[in-house]
Amino acid sequence: MLDNTKKIKKNQEFLKKPTEKKLKMQDFFEKIKNKVSEKLAVKIFECGDIIGFLKSKGEKIRLHGGRFCNNRFCPMCSWRKARKDGYLLLLLFSIVQKVMKKELIFLTLTAPNVEGEELKNEINDFNNSFKRLSNTKDFKSICKGYIRKLEVTYNDQEDTYHPHFHVVIAVNKNYFTKNYINQKKWLDMWRVAKRDKTITQVDVRKAKFNDLKGVYEIATYSAKASDYLYSENVFDVFYGALKNKKIITFNGIFKEILIDLKTTEKYNDLLETDNEIYDKQLWFTWSEKNYKLFRTDEIAETELQKVFVDEIEID
Ligand SMILES: [Zn+2]
Repeated sequence: MLDNTKKIKKNQEFLKKPTEKKLKMQDFFEKIKNKVSEKLAVKIFECGDIIGFLKSKGEKIRLHGGRFCNNRFCPMCSWRKARKDGYLLLLLFSIVQKVMKKELIFLTLTAPNVEGEELKNEINDFNNSFKRLSNTKDFKSICKGYIRKLEVTYNDQEDTYHPHFHVVIAVNKNYFTKNYINQKKWLDMWRVAKRDKTITQVDVRKAKFNDLKGVYEIATYSAKASDYLYSENVFDVFYGALKNKKIITFNGIFKEILIDLKTTEKYNDLLETDNEIYDKQLWFTWSEKNYKLFRTDEIAETELQKVFVDEIEID
């Protein structure tokens, strides 16, 4: 009896996150169904209906597969993608810091909030302004490459939108002693580039990015479900402004490493593998408000494979 209760508790624990996401799906589906093709609508409706986990002898569990829609705004799929992207970012940051011996700075560029109807233009303006900033002599002299991510939050008190950029910049080690740009100067540079003297918020700090939690801010989708699912109208604004938009940009050494990762074996030593041996597959199906186990497959000894870290680990 006790054993069984323990088992159920454990199941509930690793199912917590997907369940939390799946519960948001109904709301998401209602808001998106008229904006997409019927085929995609069905896929979204059924997203996460079936999910599979791998389980090791040591009771380690990770998400393995399932039926997913892969829509950017999907609460379930954007969570999975953020975890995957997180691992890639961790790898990039570790190469830049450990192999290339660079330091990282984390810059957040903001501007005053805008109304919904201005959001699309404001995002374009952010892109153009960043181009101006990155073309300045000061920026070019310190930047060895950057990763830039667009994020938009919603302020329900004022019904306004807050687009901003998170930028991780790789710099030489002597940046902090020789070519240092202080916060005040970053603010000035951003004000000039954005052509807006009223900007008051620019945050800059030295960063390490050596765990998944640390990179999560850059890995997650541009907008939070709790923001864009606020109302039908708010969803329309987010959807209209972010659909087909490039969310994350890789430049300089980050771009070079990405290409090397795809085309060479240069960094193979750094690719981490999960050495845990998974010998079971657990399949769950969604019914009303819960996932129910419907199949457990034993994985044959001969089929056991090492799982790469870009599979999703359940936390
Ligand atoms: Zn989905």
